[in-house]
Amino acid sequence: MNAQKKSLKPSILQKPSKKESKTAATEKKRVITVGLVGNPNCGKTSLYNKLSNSQGSIGNYPRVTVEIQESRIDYKGIEIRIVDLPGIYSLTSTSPEERIGRDYLHSEEADVLLNILDAGNLDRSLFFTTQLLEMGQATVYVLNMIDEAKQKGIHINTKDLASMLNGPVVETNAKLGVGMDKVLDAIIEMADRPHGEVHPIKLPYDSHLEEAINNVQELITKLHPGEMDQHQSRWLSLKLLEGDDELLRREGEHSHLIELVRRARYDLSHSHGESCDSMFADTRYGFIHGLLLEVRTIDKNPEKSMQLTRRIDQIFLHRLLGLPIFVLLMWMMFESTFTLGAYPADWIDQGVRALSAGVGDLMPHGLVRDLIMDGMIMGIGAVVVFLPYILILFFFIAMFSETGYLARTSFLLDRIMHVFGLHGKAFIPLVMGFGCNVPAVMATRTIESPRARLVAVLINPFMSCSQRLPAFILLSGAFFPDNAGRMIFIMYMISIATAMGSAVFLSKVVIKGGKESFVMELPPYRLPTFGSILTHIGSRAYDFVRMVGGVIVVGSITIWFLQQFPRDITYSVNYESSIAQAQAIPDTTQSELAVAELNDQKERERMEKSYLGRIGQSIAPMFSVQGFDWKDSVAIISGIFAKEVVVASYGVLYGQDDGSETGSAGLRSAISQAMTPVTAFALMVFLLLYSPCLSTIAAIKREAGWSWAGFSVLFSLLLAWTLSATIVSVGGMFF
Ligand code: GDP
Ligand code: MG
Repeated sequence: MNAQKKSLKPSILQKPSKKESKTAATEKKRVITVGLVGNPNCGKTSLYNKLSNSQGSIGNYPRVTVEIQESRIDYKGIEIRIVDLPGIYSLTSTSPEERIGRDYLHSEEADVLLNILDAGNLDRSLFFTTQLLEMGQATVYVLNMIDEAKQKGIHINTKDLASMLNGPVVETNAKLGVGMDKVLDAIIEMADRPHGEVHPIKLPYDSHLEEAINNVQELITKLHPGEMDQHQSRWLSLKLLEGDDELLRREGEHSHLIELVRRARYDLSHSHGESCDSMFADTRYGFIHGLLLEVRTIDKNPEKSMQLTRRIDQIFLHRLLGLPIFVLLMWMMFESTFTLGAYPADWIDQGVRALSAGVGDLMPHGLVRDLIMDGMIMGIGAVVVFLPYILILFFFIAMFSETGYLARTSFLLDRIMHVFGLHGKAFIPLVMGFGCNVPAVMATRTIESPRARLVAVLINPFMSCSQRLPAFILLSGAFFPDNAGRMIFIMYMISIATAMGSAVFLSKVVIKGGKESFVMELPPYRLPTFGSILTHIGSRAYDFVRMVGGVIVVGSITIWFLQQFPRDITYSVNYESSIAQAQAIPDTTQSELAVAELNDQKERERMEKSYLGRIGQSIAPMFSVQGFDWKDSVAIISGIFAKEVVVASYGVLYGQDDGSETGSAGLRSAISQAMTPVTAFALMVFLLLYSPCLSTIAAIKREAGWSWAGFSVLFSLLLAWTLSATIVSVGGMFF
């Protein structure tokens, strides 16, 4: 992916003289910078991907993009730099992620803005447009999702719309890539327009507002002599009156101006009986209403897809049935993941075994052979087997995300949180945690209230990421072979329940504060395309291969080394002579059995006295209640580095036991003899909940600081320990 993060320094008042920079650019290759702006979920990232042939993450899920990404393409000999931005509803909003887009606009870095509109939902999309219009930047309007609009029976007169917005309007379907060339042509045409032709549009504010705007504008002109033209000072005046906190802060040194604005806002709201903000909003909606009456017609028998969405939601979001349906869908998802995944997993397992046998025959005995056979192949093989499961799971998650159901699950969880007097906004980014906690922690930036955001960050690690899945599959396959799918489903239920319980606990006890409300956006249901599903799964597979190539190779080799050394171990028994004695037994079967038993004992003692054994044994006492042994302790420690190493550790640790079976079946049977099912269940719960991995800890630190990152580690360790101990004690009474 050729996406880059960048930091932007907003500088609205020092407008760079664009003409100069442009002529300088034409001498070399011409570069046009295009910023993609619009509401969340209107198809910006889809358009970005289609325009630039890249693969940003798309989802039928508001607020998927939280960082800026950009890429460059060559079109008709001109270099076009395309910048994808997080969605914005309003320029005066305070959510940190909307601020990214706003700062970008203020920086005036883009030569041309691409304002993406949801053609089926123009009333809402255009609100942001009314604010853009007043900025007077060169803008191309994209009527995206034109296919959906047509389905809803909506017709838009693009010619009239273009003349009213004073900029080209292009119809697109970003999902299929229809209209991309027209967009690029319009961008170039717009960039070629002389500066004077691009001017802000005046919205018809009522006379009192106009008067206030003029007063403020006058003072601004006095305070910034020669720095701004008429349009710019009017714009600043509008924004100050509309309550743009960022601009108010920047003008903070002019206490005169701030006071004037404050007074004007106060007077206006008093004389009109409504807040100044809503007076502005009223004008904007009025403008949109009028505009749409002119350019839009809707068929008499409209909104088939909306009707369908409404009807589907009557079932999926039903007061009583909604949750059971969600649980049922989850259950079906895990059952089929497990059943279907078993076949390809078996093929891979056979491949790994064949490879290991081949390598074993080729190489001479020695440390290098052991390293490759027992360290690398065992460790990597143990993990690679789970690739099919992960891909199938992600197929389902991609289906849920693309159809729009995933957004509904947040809504359902939100509804439960209402029972506890909380708003479940924290759950919006949470569902992403099923993939990986790191981006999910970052996605909490969409939450405005710092308190709710902190809660969301802290409960995120309890969402079971896909890297934890292999350990669950291994353990439930070994201990609950007949109910493996169900066990994994239970793990995910525990995962969600813990996240919700912790949210309640944290908001009521640790991070107290007031209540807040918000509107949950529910996108319409959409049929996913083959391509978008494939993109989701493809990027998952890529992540997996990269992870196997990196962290798992390193992890397996480290663990192998730690358990091979030191070499000079003093054994408690003289095995050599005991083995010699056993070999002397006349009965051959008995003799072989005894030798095997002795070899086993020797190997066990060697492992226990290796570095790894010593590390494990020094930790194991902490888990004496649960009954986890030193091997489990090693796996647990390795999982703090990265969750996927847990299974690799087991692969290497049990790979030595020269059982008759090898590969994943061998690992399963070796592990199934190491503990009771109750302990195994407790271990699964522990592995589910204990400390976030290093990358997630780093992400939490980035979003909330070191002390909260530390809190998260301790809190989750404590919770995991207590819960697993409870399971073992309670389970011990019954089994
Ligand atoms: P963003 O939040 O604005 O970046 O929106 P995304 O690009 O993530 O798209 C949101 C959803 O709308 C995804 O499910 C897309 O597949 C879907 N989508 C985007 N463009 C179109 C379109 O033109 N037609 C239809 N039917 N769906 C679209
Ligand atoms: Mg996006």
